Parts: sequence; structure tokens; C-alpha cells
Amino acid sequence: MKVPYLDLGAQYRSVEVDLRIAIDRVLSSCIYVLGPEVQALENEVASLCQVRSGIGVSNGSDAIVAALMALDVGPGDEVIVPTFTFFATAASVSRVGAKPVFVDILPDTFNMDPAAVEAAVTGRTRAIIPVHLYGQCADMTRIMAIADKKGIPVIEDAAQAIGATYNDRPSCSFGRAGTLSFYPTKNLSAIGEAGMVLTDDEKLAETLRVVRLQGQGATYEHIRLGANFRMDAIQGAALRVKLARIAEWNDKRRANAACYDEALRGSIITPPPVDPRCKHVYHQYTVRCAKRDQLRTYLSDAGVSCAVFYPTPLHLQPCFRDLEYKPGALPVAEQAAKEVLSLPIFPEMTEEQRDYVIETLKAFA
Ligand SMILES: *Cc1c(COP(=O)(O)O)cnc(C)c1O
Repeated sequence: MKVPYLDLGAQYRSVEVDLRIAIDRVLSSCIYVLGPEVQALENEVASLCQVRSGIGVSNGSDAIVAALMALDVGPGDEVIVPTFTFFATAASVSRVGAKPVFVDILPDTFNMDPAAVEAAVTGRTRAIIPVHLYGQCADMTRIMAIADKKGIPVIEDAAQAIGATYNDRPSCSFGRAGTLSFYPTKNLSAIGEAGMVLTDDEKLAETLRVVRLQGQGATYEHIRLGANFRMDAIQGAALRVKLARIAEWNDKRRANAACYDEALRGSIITPPPVDPRCKHVYHQYTVRCAKRDQLRTYLSDAGVSCAVFYPTPLHLQPCFRDLEYKPGALPVAEQAAKEVLSLPIFPEMTEEQRDYVIETLKAFA
């Protein structure tokens, strides 16, 4: 049997009729950028995240850049980011001319270590970007306490965590802003590129709308530096169709995860621990195994597609060599990079596929 890592075709077939109606609506409206579909999506996602405003943008990376620009973060400023995340979290900091300051993670949740954040704060720290990695929120109690004490804004990178909660509050509702990606592999996915910034701060929302539109206040009056961060209407319309299904899809991911958890109990493969304060949405189901590379080859030979997120922590990426981090500088992340493996967890996975992954895993462990 072959089990793909993700089956976008299965998802497409489950929403095809509604998707085509939505796309037709955009085609005949002739409003192809922003407009009522994007506005409606913004309201719907803001409501899900329990904040006042959503600002639809071009993608999840630009969402972080726009948030940093709106908060006036730039050259000379430092922004604290976890080293164990997707590249865009840190690259967005560099894109506005600020300096990413990498911190280590916790060995169980793989999320930013609050003690490391506290130690990394300096007089130049202008933002902290916790990432809710794999779909589980970072320790927002401690991170917000550190940030609030020093008056430093927090931007939650929730690209992997739409619908996740922490102490029953949704991701994107803790920081000054939260950012989402709707890249086709994410839990809520566009039919192309899209992203969103969420905020409860109406003044910041206003600034974000200006930043999204080339810094334009009145027509052709550019009151600050911005860029073209607009979302396509077709993405807004498609995302609204899928947003109606996100709770159900996240539940299916959780059901798949519960089966894996049960199957791995007592084995040499460690299932992802869940912080009891969190509702995990399993963007990834990431196990830890000392024999990771062996396990990966074994699963792949058995037809089960897996992935490594992420093989190299960002502080050791060639493009950040000027920051002069040495191997061993952030050891928890470096160890995780050698031991993590993500298994197929997509909501459309059939019972047969899931059972096959479980049988295969059991035969290894
Ligand atoms: C996907 C992702 C992004 C970037 O989103 P894009 O839409 O691909 O630009 C940023 N941060 C994290 C943690 C991500 O997983």
C-alpha cells in the first residue's frame, strides 16, 4: 500500500462543487483583488480567532513582514525568533532590515523556550515572534508575561496553527498581531498563495491596511513605506468555502493523532507530547526517534511518505552565517533536527491508510 504525505486531490473532491461556484462568482464579479470576498473572509477568520480585525495578504511570509513594518521594526532592531521553525519566520525579520536573534526550543513541545526568550531580551528588542510549531501553541502565559513586562510587542506566527487554542483561547488572540499562511499544504489552504494578519488592535489594523496597499493613505499619497501585499479575490472566495470545513478537518487530524499516540505507546518512537493547556491541530504529527534516518528509510521502503521538519535549525543556515552562530550554540534544536520525523496526518486519510501506517510502525518498534 502507498500512503502519501498529503492528498490534496481528496480534499479538492470533497469541496469541488462549492469551490467552482465560488470561483465563478469571482469571475463574473470582475473584482479580482481584495473586494467583498476577501473582506468577508477577513471577518470570518477574525471571528474564529476572536479578534477584531483580519487583513488578507499575499502569503504567510508577507504577513509577518507586514506586521513588522506596521510595528515600525527596522534596521538596528532585534527580533527574537525560535531557531526551529520554517525559514520565513526569521527571513521576514531580515527582510525589514532587523536582526533575528535565535533562541532554543523546549525538548518536548519543540516550541520556543520562554527562559531563553527572557535571556535574549536586550534594549534593542523590538518584537518577539513565537511560532506555534506543528499546530500546538507555544507557552503563551510565560512569553506574554516577559513581553508585557518589557513592553515588547508579540507577533504569533500561527501559520501552522489555525484553530489551535491555549487555555481555551485561539491562536492569534494573544499577541499584538498573529499571522496565518494559507499555502496549499497548510490546514486551511488556498488554491494558490495567501495569508492573513490578525489583530485586536484597531489602530494597528488600520496601519496594516495602509502597509498592504503600498503605504497609501489617500490615493497616490504614500504616508509610509508599504508594499503590494494584497490578497487575490479568488483566494478569498476559495478559502471561505474551506473555512466552513476547518473545524471538522482539524478534528479528523486529532482523531488520526489519537490512533498514532495509542499505537506508539511504549515503543522506541516517541509521539508528540501535548501541553495540557493546548488544543493541538496537528498540522504535523511529529515523532522523535533516536534511529530517525533508519525509520525514515524503513517507512519510505514500505510506501509510507514522511518528512523532516526541519533538518537544519535556522541559526546554522548559510544565509545567516553573518550572525556567527556556531554548531552547538542552540543544542536542543540541533538534537531535535536529527531526531524528528513527521508522519502522514491529513484529514482525508482513509482508515485503511492509517491502519497500514500503524502496522508498519509497530513492525519497526
Ligand atoms: C508556511 C509557514 C510560513 C510562511 O508562509 P507562506 O505562505 O509559505 O509564505 C511562515 N511560518 C511558518 C511557521 C510556516 O509554516
